Amino acid sequence: MLFLLYNSQDKILDILWKFLILLLPIISILLIYFIVLTTYYCLVKRIIRRNHFDLDIIKENYDIFSDSYIVYNSIKNISSDEELTRLFEEREIQQMNVHNFEIDYEDNLSYDSNDSNDSNDSNEENCVICLEDINNKISTKLDCEHKFHIMCLNQWVSKSNKCPLCNANIL
Ligand SMILES: [Zn+2]
Ligand SMILES: [Zn+2]
Repeated sequence: MLFLLYNSQDKILDILWKFLILLLPIISILLIYFIVLTTYYCLVKRIIRRNHFDLDIIKENYDIFSDSYIVYNSIKNISSDEELTRLFEEREIQQMNVHNFEIDYEDNLSYDSNDSNDSNDSNEENCVICLEDINNKISTKLDCEHKFHIMCLNQWVSKSNKCPLCNANIL
């Protein structure tokens, strides 16, 4: 009787072992994933605390970056919410600018300068692709000196690789 009990316990242990060995790789992968994630999260948190960032800005824009390592490295040298917002905007523009047109960020992302003196601006320029004001969206200037919205130009290029105004090669 005792022997039988011992034997059945042994079998259960054996099955348990096999089960554990099967599960081990899955558990370890999950564990590593968890550790890596928390480490990055803690690193980003430290930056947030040090620089007094608005966490909402980071959360809202987190998906612009492919992984948290890039987020960490991108924001570690930034010191204000304004810089942070600007970084995210630049990043977003870079993503939609699939043909890598040159963008003057100083000109396109200046916050306080453009809004207030709109009425004083006499030289109103339009994007000839959509016929709207060039200043209401992010724009780029081509080598031929003609300016277009980045979004419009990226659509245009799928049909033609020449400037809509002067026929110079764009790509
Ligand atoms: Zn346009
Ligand atoms: Zn042109």
